Amino acid sequence: MHPIAVIGAGPSGLAAARALDRAGIPFEVFEAGDDVGGLWNIDNPRSTVYESAHLISSRTTTEFAEFPMDSTTDYPGHRELMRYFRAFAERFGLRDRIRFGTRVTRVEPVDGDASGASGWLVTTSGPDATEPDATAETRTYSGVILANGTLAEPNVPTFRGEFTGEILHSSRYKRAAQFDGKRVLVIGAGNSGCDIAVDAVHHAASVDLSVRRGYYFVPRYLFGKPSDTLNQGRPLPARLKQAIDSRVLKAFTGDPVRFGFPKPDYRIYESHPIVNTLVLNHLGQGDLRVMPDIDRFDGRTVHFADGRSAEYDLVLLATGYTLDYPFVDRAHLNWTQAAPTLYLNVFPPSFNGLYVLGMIEASGIGWQGRAEQAALVAAYLAAVRDDPAAAAAFRARADAPWPDLTGGYRYLGLDRMSYYVNKDAYRRTVTKLLSSLPSATPLTNGTRP
Ligand SMILES: Cc1cc2nc3c(=O)[nH]c(=O)nc-3n(C[C@H](O)[C@H](O)[C@H](O)COP(=O)(O)OP(=O)(O)OC[C@H]3O[C@@H](n4cnc5c(N)ncnc54)[C@H](O)[C@@H]3O)c2cc1C
Repeated sequence: MHPIAVIGAGPSGLAAARALDRAGIPFEVFEAGDDVGGLWNIDNPRSTVYESAHLISSRTTTEFAEFPMDSTTDYPGHRELMRYFRAFAERFGLRDRIRFGTRVTRVEPVDGDASGASGWLVTTSGPDATEPDATAETRTYSGVILANGTLAEPNVPTFRGEFTGEILHSSRYKRAAQFDGKRVLVIGAGNSGCDIAVDAVHHAASVDLSVRRGYYFVPRYLFGKPSDTLNQGRPLPARLKQAIDSRVLKAFTGDPVRFGFPKPDYRIYESHPIVNTLVLNHLGQGDLRVMPDIDRFDGRTVHFADGRSAEYDLVLLATGYTLDYPFVDRAHLNWTQAAPTLYLNVFPPSFNGLYVLGMIEASGIGWQGRAEQAALVAAYLAAVRDDPAAAAAFRARADAPWPDLTGGYRYLGLDRMSYYVNKDAYRRTVTKLLSSLPSATPLTNGTRP
């Protein structure tokens, strides 16, 4: 058996390495950057975190269960998270298995056999390779785990007209000094957009926030505890949870419409909630203004959908990211529209030897959810090696109707929601399938230091 190639040493790639190691499956990890941690490594050129970035989900709901963080911080920042990922890699002896400064540039089936039965050719380059690339290397692997992240390739919408000031996507935003003295328009009020607008308040000459739809704002703390640590027991039915949580939010954060946001035309949890109430504080203090959707640009003037206009020096696009697996033909990942269509968001239905980790957007799935995906892939690969009948039975499940991963929530029909799952439904399904595979290594909980 050739080894398995893992692309990326972020949380998902580390989880993959750990799971393969535990299952005794040979593997090699390729990481384009020079350290573990993925986008949490602010020095990684493809990192999309900024100096003020902290976890949005809380520490205990996010960390790997078998390796609790040595911290009491509820919402650690990226530097503390980097220490954690380095410690994780050290603790499980993973560092030596990672080739840093090595970018995967091509993944293609051996002999063009799209079934993947003959394995996969993985071509890599050094970090600063130019054409012709003397560092390029191609080797054969029996499978490839794609853990190259989902939040790296900017989604840049097109607007009518031209803006002659500075335009910056949030992926290039690093520190608030970038706003010094400028009239700033942030487009998009997702979690990054709100974080960045709050940063800008202390540096910019003025800050406006343009939104297309309403949002639900969840406080970081409820009843004195990180809000996502409440309600951890058996999940409530979707409708009941929506009814209770929207009441709780109304009591704690009030009605965002009062602060200038449109009323959401969807129920809570049908899109990603915003875990940020500072933005509401700043709106209440008059430090920020909510503006509607953009109609067009004209020089430094931005015209809004309601007929108002204003001048800006900098437009910051907090317009999210698109999925990008540039090194592999789309057909191998069964792309349909905005995302690959994968069994459990991991396995191409043809089971061709490619596996995608981390392609799950969900409220509160954390790195443990990604570790469970990794454990499932490792258990499947162990079954291929040790128990082909069990592996075949696993594959046969993908021929039956796929499990409902929505948890009963009707997600908005947006591109970015096309790979959204409900964390409870997803983790329950993965855990059940994991136990159906004979040689699965049990998922263990570590001891908190
Ligand atoms: C501001 C911000 C806040 C967030 N907050 C939370 C939170 O609170 N909770 C949460 O669970 N998630 C949060 N996330 C989501 C975050 O994506 C995950 O926590 C996690 O980083 C995903 O891990 P990953 O390994 O899948 O991807 P990444 O962290 O993106 O890592 C991918 C790695 O692959 C490498 N790579 C990419 N292409 C190649 C290639 N061709 N060859 C070799 N290597 C390659 C990259 O260099 C990178 O190291 C947040 C994201 C952002 C931006």
